[in-house]
Amino acid sequence: MSALVWLRSDLRSVWHSPFSYATEHHSEVSAVFFVTHKQWQHYGLATIKLDLLVRRLLELKNELQARGIGLNLVSVPTFADIPETLATLCREHDITKLYFNAEYELDERNRDKAVKVRLAEEGVESGVFHDTCACRPDKILNQSAEPYKVFTPYFKVWLEQLKSTLMPVPGIKKVSQSQIFKQSLSTDEDLISGLLTQESDDWPAAQEAILQRLSGYLEEDVAEYNELRDIPSQPGTSKLSPYFSMGSLSPVQVANAMLNRFGDKLFEPGGGAYTWLKELAWRDFYRYVMYHFPHVCRHQCFSTKYDSFAWQSDKILFKAWCEGQTGYPIVDAAMRCLNQTGWMHNRLRMVVASFLAKHLRLPWRWGEDYFMNKLIDGDFASNNGGWQWSASTGTDAAPYFRIFNPASQGKRYDEEGEFLLKWVPELSAVPKKYLHEPQKWSEAASLNYPVPVVEHKQAVSETKAQFANFLRSS
Ligand code: FAD
Repeated sequence: MSALVWLRSDLRSVWHSPFSYATEHHSEVSAVFFVTHKQWQHYGLATIKLDLLVRRLLELKNELQARGIGLNLVSVPTFADIPETLATLCREHDITKLYFNAEYELDERNRDKAVKVRLAEEGVESGVFHDTCACRPDKILNQSAEPYKVFTPYFKVWLEQLKSTLMPVPGIKKVSQSQIFKQSLSTDEDLISGLLTQESDDWPAAQEAILQRLSGYLEEDVAEYNELRDIPSQPGTSKLSPYFSMGSLSPVQVANAMLNRFGDKLFEPGGGAYTWLKELAWRDFYRYVMYHFPHVCRHQCFSTKYDSFAWQSDKILFKAWCEGQTGYPIVDAAMRCLNQTGWMHNRLRMVVASFLAKHLRLPWRWGEDYFMNKLIDGDFASNNGGWQWSASTGTDAAPYFRIFNPASQGKRYDEEGEFLLKWVPELSAVPKKYLHEPQKWSEAASLNYPVPVVEHKQAVSETKAQFANFLRSS
């Protein structure tokens, strides 16, 4: 019996339940990945992310080949084309089983439902696995059998569930037969043709190198996570998010690796490894929210009352934010770093998102789209969750009156301007004391740097008043 593993956001050749199961139960196993240029364009994926994706696919092809599995890269415009294409492939190649990992975004869930129905008509059974999260979203509910809306109680249950379910995924066996379909793209050029890409070479794409990054981080750095995680100039965080976002690391695999290394100490609050594990829970949580409250996938606020909040539609302010020309040094440094490298530190993501929503009062969806269009780790659930948190419209959101002061954030987390000056070199003559508020320096007029696009105190007080009025009248 011939089986097909359908790869999506689980681009790895280890710790992969569909492959483990298929290679255990079938002697012939092939794999398919759909190259959906039009769909990716519609999602506004960053060119640097696409570059890493393409590089990862080419590595994966070789990694699977070593296990006898052929990876077919089949081009179709959008998700809507997949059910029929899969039906054709299964019919033409005598495939009777399709295996894949669940994805929880709304379009993806609708696509998968359509695939199951269409393949059932062809007599092909679908087997669904749940590697995407460390804990399955449908398995965590409160005592009234409803989904949690707040992270802390969710995390308590998540942790217990993780402890009780954590176990290694069996390895992928070598298979004796596999198929390369005539529909499969035959050259690497076919794969990237029509795709705009921005070089992602700073990010390794081979599985082995990705695993080394993980083990290096767990061995050398995670213990200091609590101390260093908020300092953008320090390598205090793992920078593994691009790999989590395309599934080149599985959260179950990572949790297992942590348990092997730290034993039960992993679950003791206060340690760096525990705090880091909690970040993986945040990743799961935003997927959980998306699964149980799919309206967030339809451009709606989690807290739907905010759908009618009157954000400003000021394209000039937005352009200044995008280009890192707001006159707020830490915001500008962060945005310029994002534009050039496809990366931004978590602390800075919170600062610039708060600035867009609370100082400029621009629609948070503009920021969400912009991030998606630039980030190498662009991921719908984490991005949407992060933006809604910052705009005070989401689960567990920052209360509307807690507004980051960019100058204080800059002074606290980049006191010496180590990060800042790398991206805003025009401030290098400014005395340290004024680095985060250069407009207060007596010689500010000599700088080739914008004056602040809004005044901090005034912007904050107007935003608070607008939120308060809105809540009173809604
Ligand atoms: P580490 O600190 O090493 O954390 C380990 C892993 O935990 C990360 O790789 C990531 O998978 C997960 N994680 C950490 N923090 C969060 C968080 N707050 N929410 C969800 N998962 C988390 N993350 C993305 O992966 N893609 C996005 O598109 C994205 N957009 C964001 C937008 C905003 C406005 C904000 C505030 C946060 C966003 N995040 C996003 C979350 C977070 O900023 C990144 O996951 C983190 O900066 C990645 O760096 P790291 O791998 O070094 O993280």
